Amino acid sequence: MRIARNIPELRVLLKTLRKQGGRIGFVPTMGYLHEGHASLIQHCRARCDSVVASIFVNPTQFGPDEDLNHYPHDLDRDQALCLNQGVTILFIPEATELYTTGFSTFIDPGPMGQVLCGSYRPGHFRGVATVVAKLFSIVQPDLAFFGQKDLQQAAILRRMVWDLNLPIELVVAPTIREHDGLAMSSRNAYLSIGERMRALCISRALAAATNAFQKGVRSATELVDTAKSLLGDLDELQYCELVDALTMDTIEGQVKRLAGLCVAGKIGRARLIDNVLLSEAADPTRLLSLVAIPD
Ligand code: AMP
Repeated sequence: MRIARNIPELRVLLKTLRKQGGRIGFVPTMGYLHEGHASLIQHCRARCDSVVASIFVNPTQFGPDEDLNHYPHDLDRDQALCLNQGVTILFIPEATELYTTGFSTFIDPGPMGQVLCGSYRPGHFRGVATVVAKLFSIVQPDLAFFGQKDLQQAAILRRMVWDLNLPIELVVAPTIREHDGLAMSSRNAYLSIGERMRALCISRALAAATNAFQKGVRSATELVDTAKSLLGDLDELQYCELVDALTMDTIEGQVKRLAGLCVAGKIGRARLIDNVLLSEAADPTRLLSLVAIPD
């Protein structure tokens, strides 16, 4: 595994890779890696000849009162995980490398960036779309891999790839969970033992709604209410909403299209998000990927 700490170093390594031919896959992360990130790397290895991963805690996606300066990190452990998982190139830039003095060009994801997490984290998805567009432009991967865990992020980036005609296949992979159901997240490190127990209400609520869906319930209100009734252990419920999983539009009435039941809430200082797809399709996560590359 080669490590690049700045863009010129990365470009040299990428040039060599491109000369070898084959497909280059990209897995962007904010570090403090866990099995969710490892699974993205595995999906990437299965589809690509080489894997470029990045670790960058992107300042433009954090609000002024958020956890940018406290975001968990352990670079030695992350490097070991990437090496073990077979990453070809690991890109670890400083913030000043991506945001040089006078930086002023942002990608605005439009209305999809204003709902759900966007309404609690103003500017968050503008920062996400901007940094991912920059990383795409620097790495120029053939495929890029994202987790269903961040369903709204995946929807926004899929739209961005399409709207900007980026020649990249965007792949969305399923959420990896702890043995007890808690969705893996770098922010789980903020939870005390008691808080972690309470955090389980999120995956239980989503499982209860999934169960109701499988038993034939199609009423959006009933599915949302089933989940909401189990979310009492959160310190703050920010949202529990049923949305079209591709557009993030609220689903009212009956579930007919690929639906995402999305939850966000706070426990202690941790803000946690999770979701499930409600669909009759055998493997609904696959439907989130953007396979056709825009002309
Ligand atoms: P992050 O480092 O949290 O910004 O996440 C980097 C990538 O890993 C994003 O595409 C996330 O959606 C994905 N990811 C985070 N947690 C999980 C998980 N539990 N399962 C699968 N993918 C995940």
